This record gives sequence, C-alpha cells and structure tokens, in this order.
Amino acid sequence: MVGGGEIASRKAALLQNAGAQIRVISPELGVSLSELKAQNAIEHEAREYRQGDLAGARLVIAATDDAEVNRQASEEAQAHGIPVNVVDQPELCSFIMPSIIDRSPVIAAVSTSGASPVLARLIRGRLESLIPSGYGRLAELASRFRDRVKMRFTNPTDRRRFWEETLQGGVAERVFSGHHEEANRLMEQALAENTALTTDGMGEVYLVGGGPGDPDLLSFRALRLMQQADVVVYDRLISKPILEMTRRDAERIYVGKENNHHVMCQEDINQLLAKLAKQGKRVVRLKGGDPFIFGRGGEEIDTLAAQGVPFQVVPGVTAASGCAAYSGIPLTHRDYAQSVVFVTGHLKDDSLNLNWKALAQPRQTVVFYMGLMSLPHICHELQAHGLSADLPAALVQKGTTPQQKVYTGTLSTLTAIAEKYKPKPPTLIIVGEVVELRDKLNWYKSGEEVAEESVSFEPAAWPEVERAVSS
Ligand code: SAH
Repeated sequence: MVGGGEIASRKAALLQNAGAQIRVISPELGVSLSELKAQNAIEHEAREYRQGDLAGARLVIAATDDAEVNRQASEEAQAHGIPVNVVDQPELCSFIMPSIIDRSPVIAAVSTSGASPVLARLIRGRLESLIPSGYGRLAELASRFRDRVKMRFTNPTDRRRFWEETLQGGVAERVFSGHHEEANRLMEQALAENTALTTDGMGEVYLVGGGPGDPDLLSFRALRLMQQADVVVYDRLISKPILEMTRRDAERIYVGKENNHHVMCQEDINQLLAKLAKQGKRVVRLKGGDPFIFGRGGEEIDTLAAQGVPFQVVPGVTAASGCAAYSGIPLTHRDYAQSVVFVTGHLKDDSLNLNWKALAQPRQTVVFYMGLMSLPHICHELQAHGLSADLPAALVQKGTTPQQKVYTGTLSTLTAIAEKYKPKPPTLIIVGEVVELRDKLNWYKSGEEVAEESVSFEPAAWPEVERAVSS
C-alpha cells in the first residue's frame, strides 16, 4: 500500500480480512493503520514511495493525496503486471474494489465499474437487508454436510433438489434463528430418510410481530418469513400495506376482532394454526405490534408446543414504541420519567382491576393499551390515587399510519377531548410528564417534515386540539 491515511486504512481492513500480508509505504500513518501496526498486523516503511518499491508485491493499492505519486505507483505496477487500484481514480486502476456484502464464507460484490461508488453502496444497502446475516452459518453447515450429501445422492439432479430444499426450507430457518442443533438434526434425518426436509411433512408456525402499522417498521426477518409463508393468518390490527407484503399467492385467513365481536375465538385460532402446520404448511401468524405484548402470543404457542408443532416468534415494534416515536413523546427521560409501564386498559366484566397505586407513581410514564373505552375510568382512578389533575396525557390514534392523530390534554381534560373528537381504535393512551416534551421538541414542525417522507399526518388536527385544550 502506498499511502497510510484513513482511506488506505479502509482498504487495508478489507485486505486483512481476506488474509493478505500488508506492507505500507508512507512517511506517516493515520490512527487506524497505527493501531494495526501496534498489533503487528501490518509492516510499515516510514518513508516516501520510490520507484522499485513494488517488486514482489501481489497487489498494489495507491491511496496517497498526491496525484503524481499515485500515477507513478500505478505505472510501476502495471509495467510489472501487478494488479493495481488507485483510490478514486478509475483510469489508473487495473482492477476495482467493489462494495461487498460479507456473510463469510459467502461474499457478494456490487460494482458499478467505477461509475458511482455511492450507487454501489446504496445497492449494497438493499442487498444487506435481503440477505440474512445467517447466510454465512448456512454456508458452513452446507460445507460440513457436503461430502456426505454427495455420497448419499449420487444422481446430480437429486442432489441439487436436496440442496434447494435444505437451503431455503426449515433447515435454513433454523440456522437463521440460531437453532443449530435442530438444524443439524433435520439434516441428519433428511440424509437418513431421503425424504423432504420438513419433519413428517410437518409445517411450521411463525408468530410474526407486524408492528403498529407503518410497513417500514417490519424487521428483515418478519419480511422474509412473510414472503415464504403458504398461509397468512392475520387480524384487524394488520394494516393493508403490511398484508400486501406477504407472498402474493399465499392463502390469507382473517381472524380479526371487531370491538368485542370476535370473528374467531382465541381457542379456535390456536387450533387453526396447529391444524394448518400439520398439513405441512408454513404459516405466518401476523400480529399487530409485538406478539408478546398484549398479543396473546403466549397462548398460541402453548397450543403449538403441546401439539408438537415447531414455531418461531419474531418480535415487532410495539404500539407504545411506534406511537411514541411518531408523535414526539419520549417514553422515558432523565428528568421526567425513569420508568415506563405498559398496561392493558381492557375492561373485563365491565371493570378494570388494576394496581392503581403502582400506576399512580411520580416520574413514571404509563401507557394504556386497549384503553379507549375505559378512558374516563382510567383518568378518574389515576387522580383518585394521587396523580395531579394537570398531569399531561395523550391519545395517539392509529399511530405510525397516515391516519395518525395525536390529542393532548391532562388527566382532567382528556375524557372531554375524547368525547368531542371521538378517536377511533386502535388508540393508545400515554400518561406522564413526557407528553409535554412534544412542545419542547417543537414536534409540530418536525411532524410536518416527517409527513413529506413517510407518514402523512392531518396537520390541522393538532393545533385545533391544542386550542380546545387551552380553552
Ligand atoms: N401486540 C400489540 C398490542 C395489541 S393490543 C402491540 O404490541 O402493539 C391492541 C391495542 O394496542 C389497541 O387497543 C391499541 O391500544 C394499541 N395499538 C395497536 N396498534 C396501535 C396503533 N397503530 N396506534 C395506536 N394504538 C395501537
């Protein structure tokens, strides 16, 4: 390497990962290369580059800020047939260093042939999100079984089919989710039985958190499973744009709940999931927010476990996180709230048996899920247990979606606000001083900025409500 600054160090890091022995010629070294030198990871000659320095090199990188030195190094290298890369000067390069997606031993490279490194990086970003980080581990598994699979399936077509199933079916999913022993077991079983890789034709259930509404908030893993699933079982909280991200030809089953009217009761849903999996299907159970936060995910996997159906749980952004972020209400804050509690406001037999004393604590944010119907009750009890009538509180309707609306008031005004403006479910109630931070953060302004990019709010709603509150 000719040159020892930060750009050179980035190339050095890549080359070092690939196992290169690196010699750097440069009067000085930048911070990163100095560190590598201290670890004896590179050899350093502290001087200017001279003709003849490149003898014996296998590869040359020139990354000085002196165009003339770079040119000379390039000429010397090319005269001796040594591949050379001069950073940001494609005309002096005999090879380019593409942007790479490293899932060692799997490596994918993106090149624009030097036309636009930034574009290459953007494409790389998209690929990064498509290629699970577990691909490296999957390749390791494949390599471990390679010889045995070759002996087992002498016919190349059978072998190819075997690998195609393994590398995208249940084995792969288990590797990605870190269940390596289970993946090994399935491989052993498949080798022994020469059958398809799903155990006894058994499918699998993925309990996927779909987040609060904005499809951008899905995790990579959620998206991948959604695109593999044969069946999607979803409920009312799943927004249309999210549903549309499931596989086109997947069967879609709606099991939603409309207020208190259930299309399908929980026990039936549990049994349905088990039944579909036993038919050999890959079932995505798509739930709003996070499956383990007021999502009855626990009950669903109980049934699956009891019936020996394999399953995975994929976390999602829960409504409290989503609504907070999209409405400018930090749930905790050094000065205003040291704890946050998520609690259900769902009425059971027309009453709400909560530990009000524990909820009505200073410096605590309380987030009520499913609390719209019991809002008057909630505001009343919190005050009765010692919280101030002036404590700020907010309603966030359909948070993170284009229909998001935020209503702010206090424990004493919020009920009247809800009666007047009639927010629709799903709506979240956030109680605590942090609600006021929206004003301090000047959130209206940034709210409008956000609106242009990903979410469109109804800007008129906020100032109007604000006035209603103060009058
Ligand atoms: N598992 C879900 C919660 C299901 S309970 C999660 O983790 O978010 C349903 C309640 O969640 C609704 O009554 C409402 O209070 C809240 N909720 C879900 N999505 C919401 C959204 N986009 N905006 C506001 N509240 C939401």
